[in-house]
Amino acid sequence: MACPRRIMPEVVAATCVDPVERGETTVNDCVFCRILADRSKAAIVHEDDATLAFMDPRQANEGHLLVIPKLHVETVWDMDEETASALFRVVPKIAQALRSALNLSGMSIWQSNGRAGSQEVPHVHVHLMPRHVGDGLLRVYPARVENAAREQLDAVADRIRKALPA
Ligand SMILES: [Zn+2]
Repeated sequence: MACPRRIMPEVVAATCVDPVERGETTVNDCVFCRILADRSKAAIVHEDDATLAFMDPRQANEGHLLVIPKLHVETVWDMDEETASALFRVVPKIAQALRSALNLSGMSIWQSNGRAGSQEVPHVHVHLMPRHVGDGLLRVYPARVENAAREQLDAVADRIRKALPA
């Protein structure tokens, strides 16, 4: 597998090669990298050069699956465009197959970062969760949230715009 471009080139040598190609059975303490090293550890749905999709062991709703980059990248903040493109390009294809296979009328897709974001495995992953009316899962707002004032929206939008790369 070709070495994807990385934001942090100093770690490329250690992480850019598929663990299976490296012949390793234990890559590190990352549970997803262990799956990449040994596909028998997961129920695989799809694989390409840069991504792997497999069933989440916790089937709160049947069909819940995860899509990961093969590159060990901890959070979305660490992802370069090439890795992100490969990851999110495959999501609709998996989502369409999941909907078709399970005859779904709803699906939630999410991706968590950092402890405050409730990220459990420090390797970027996108959840695809089948949804059913009234299943009670994924309540984003525990209570009603009112719309912010326009001035407040403009102020925070301005701060974010200024933080974007030129
Ligand atoms: Zn990993």
